[in-house]
Amino acid sequence: MATTGEGNQNQAGRHQEVGHKSLLQSDALYQYILETSVYPKEPEPMKELREVTAKHPWNIMTTSADEGQFLNMLLKLINAKNTMEIGVYTGYSLLATALAIPDDGKILAMDINRENYELGLPTIQKAGVAHKIDFREGPALPLLDQLIGDEKNHGSYDFIFVDADKDNYLNYHKRLIELVKVGGVIGYDNTLWNGSVVAPPDAPLRKYVRYYRDFVLELNKALAADPRIEICMLPVGDGITLCRRIK
Ligand code: SAM
Ligand code: CA
Repeated sequence: MATTGEGNQNQAGRHQEVGHKSLLQSDALYQYILETSVYPKEPEPMKELREVTAKHPWNIMTTSADEGQFLNMLLKLINAKNTMEIGVYTGYSLLATALAIPDDGKILAMDINRENYELGLPTIQKAGVAHKIDFREGPALPLLDQLIGDEKNHGSYDFIFVDADKDNYLNYHKRLIELVKVGGVIGYDNTLWNGSVVAPPDAPLRKYVRYYRDFVLELNKALAADPRIEICMLPVGDGITLCRRIK
């Protein structure tokens, strides 16, 4: 996929700029959150993976450190055990998940690119959580269809994080709503899409931002109209919409 507006990092591995300007009053306020809440409590492997990722040319795709902290806390709050992630990249959100779930917890992780996952894998192994991860290389949609084909997977996931090709989110949603349990949560990432969801039609947007914007707008509308879920859109990272299945 094209690079996404996920968060920008400088060489020190800090996450700056991005939608944060549109979501918070200033970069200084965002730095304050990082320095006051995130970095002092950040587990060593998360820091290491952030630094490894910062050196990669596509580091704009990584989950921001504050969002990693949020996911880690959320998973603990809901006692998630059986989880799924679509869109792994170097594994920052994956590690946040793996560190949060119990030792016998599981993450079915999918990405079309194994190479980037392998950049993060040594850190994940060192953290002692690699045994929780079942990584599958390939497009997520056929794998989801395979899962749906087996009744025992229905309603079996406590938490699913979706952070991949935004033009497929609605296709994912059709399947994930069957796979997540009632009371379980699906998190769709980047639902504020660089703040572009409120940009006027003629705004000068980067090409990939413009291309995916309509899909994000359509997703946001569809989630708000879906009677099977309760939703909460949070201005964390580039926007994350939590969907709690209620029927
Ligand atoms: N969650 C990751 C993190 O914390 O660093 C970031 C994921 S990145 C924004 C999006 C990922 O989706 C890329 O690694 C890309 O290879 C993957 N992707 C794109 N299309 C996909 C598809 N059809 N199926 C599975 N993964 C896909
Ligand atoms: Ca993202």
